[in-house]
Amino acid sequence: MHAKFLNTKGLAKYIEDYSEAVSLELKKGIQINIEKLIHKTFNTPPIVIFGADICGRLLARHLKLQNIHIACFVDNNLNKCIDDLEGLPVIHTGNLTSFPLESVFLVASTYIHDIFHQLLDLGFFRVLPTSKILQELPQEKLNELPAIQGGIHGRGNFKQDFVPYVVSNMITSQEKYLSDDLVFIRSIDLIITEKCSLKCKDCANLMQYYEKPVDISTNELIEDVKDIVSVVDEINEIRIIGGEPLVNRNFATIISQILPIKKINKVCVYTNGTVVPSDKQMELLKSSKIFFFITNYGILSRQKEKLLAQLKKYNINHNLQDAYGWTECGTIGQRHRNTKDNEYIFTNCCAKNFLSMTDGNLYRCPFSANIVRLNGMPDELSQSDGYNFRGLNNASHQEKIDARIKLKHFLYEKKTLNACDFCAGRTYGDKEIKPGIQTKKPLVYETYAPSLNTKNEKKRVTVS
Ligand code: SF4
Ligand code: SF4
Repeated sequence: MHAKFLNTKGLAKYIEDYSEAVSLELKKGIQINIEKLIHKTFNTPPIVIFGADICGRLLARHLKLQNIHIACFVDNNLNKCIDDLEGLPVIHTGNLTSFPLESVFLVASTYIHDIFHQLLDLGFFRVLPTSKILQELPQEKLNELPAIQGGIHGRGNFKQDFVPYVVSNMITSQEKYLSDDLVFIRSIDLIITEKCSLKCKDCANLMQYYEKPVDISTNELIEDVKDIVSVVDEINEIRIIGGEPLVNRNFATIISQILPIKKINKVCVYTNGTVVPSDKQMELLKSSKIFFFITNYGILSRQKEKLLAQLKKYNINHNLQDAYGWTECGTIGQRHRNTKDNEYIFTNCCAKNFLSMTDGNLYRCPFSANIVRLNGMPDELSQSDGYNFRGLNNASHQEKIDARIKLKHFLYEKKTLNACDFCAGRTYGDKEIKPGIQTKKPLVYETYAPSLNTKNEKKRVTVS
């Protein structure tokens, strides 16, 4: 497995050496196992960009200028495999079995760990990170993409702020993921409230089930952030979410206490465009570390224009994007699948690395975090899905070392979650549904009694 970082020059040399080796073998009359169809369609070796999105597009444009021929894009998401991108076909990973094992994969995704393993399992061995190549891109290249918006992000335009944000995330994630010594976390969703100003019946964060939603105590949140930070080397972003995070009246205070933490690179606020922070709150948010993501639910996002104006006034990076890509993944209910099927659901889930933290636990996805908060599965199942980090800030050196080992296992070794059996799954390319349909009343689901211990641990505090 090649995991070395190559800049464009290094990549060109790598391809040249490989092509030479192939032609030498051919001269010796050795039959190379390359399917005729692929051989005809692609150069040898086919060079493929894994990730049909912003970074992939930038990479394809850049390599074209260097006369490096790219055969196609590859992506896990079927919905991205419909139209050509940058003049190249987008092939679904389900069709990778017809590719020669010698293919070179340039990974243009933050999920490099998963993609490396996915390709390795399929027998491919020429897999390269692309952070060094993307680092070469001049600023004006990053500014080019909004001019061609449409296509992959056409269902929700993105602002100029968004492209450098995505590229820097990918560069950081790739470089840090591939370091064995570091405990690097790409992002953590910090649930600061169960309340939401909307009640979407298909909310993937399960807000539609909360009967008496509460805010989480500011002290508890800050202590939890300090605890998790004490056992990691870096967290690229903390995402402030809810429900609707701006409904928590202390949201700006919470963020202002997270911003100075050096190990956290960015703080992103995910909001639905219904609430505008006051000037006093905005003063606390003035930082280049902050990024606001506004999801546009059309007329439901009734304050989005005012919110945009407020963000511009305080010079805060932001992006407004239409709600899109929703699937039926917000229904709680036990499916009684066997282990193999639950492993399949987990492996193919697009949300399995959307780490979420609540109640002193880290969970692999928002569904898993919220089903536990909602007591939506038996207590013994809930307990083994999370990684408990509460109190680690004050733990001994040895306890922290042990906690880091456990955390790495939690991040990289899980094959499935107990929550997966209660979830419809979020498989790449699932049929999409209309986003943002509202329900007047909370939805009904089966609840399980928490044990006495967990009940005490989970004590929630309403602060507003
Ligand atoms: S706006 Fe809708 S999808 Fe977003 S948190 Fe609220 S209920 Fe969930
Ligand atoms: S399938 Fe599993 S990992 Fe994916 S969202 Fe559901 S519970 Fe989370």
